[in-house]
Amino acid sequence: MIRHFQHYRVPTDIWIETFELRHMESIAKSRMPNETGGILIGARSSRGLWVLASIEVPHQQPRPNRYSLATTKANQLLQEYLRQARLDKSEFGYIGTWHSHPASCGPSPIDYRTVRRDSRYQRDAVAMLVIARCGTSGWTTHAVIASKRRTAVARVRTRLPSQ
Ligand SMILES: [Zn+2]
Repeated sequence: MIRHFQHYRVPTDIWIETFELRHMESIAKSRMPNETGGILIGARSSRGLWVLASIEVPHQQPRPNRYSLATTKANQLLQEYLRQARLDKSEFGYIGTWHSHPASCGPSPIDYRTVRRDSRYQRDAVAMLVIARCGTSGWTTHAVIASKRRTAVARVRTRLPSQ
């Protein structure tokens, strides 16, 4: 058991379609100067985490430098999405969160803590995407994956693996 844990590696790739990234960016832009965010719905495979859709879970009191997920609302929106899209719950579900940084770059120390804490309550790996607007260079996506309380910087990959 302990040996298994020591050899466990956090998945390193998050697969997402370009249009889904653009979708989050346009939401992020529309909420400026405040942060916004929500949840990621998708599936897991040996290649990493696959984001099928992102959903915004607006914060009651949006702020420029903070976003926290309203978990009850998030779960409600998740269940609604799974039902409406008729997705098989044994395969698709919650795989993490996303939020915007309208005025700062990568994930903060608090973000790392948050995703690590999230992984304590999940059986499998969870992701955090940070859609950041760094200076004038436009939006960039940063990703962290946490599993079994370990975190790792992940690669955002926009070309999906062939099945
Ligand atoms: Zn953040």
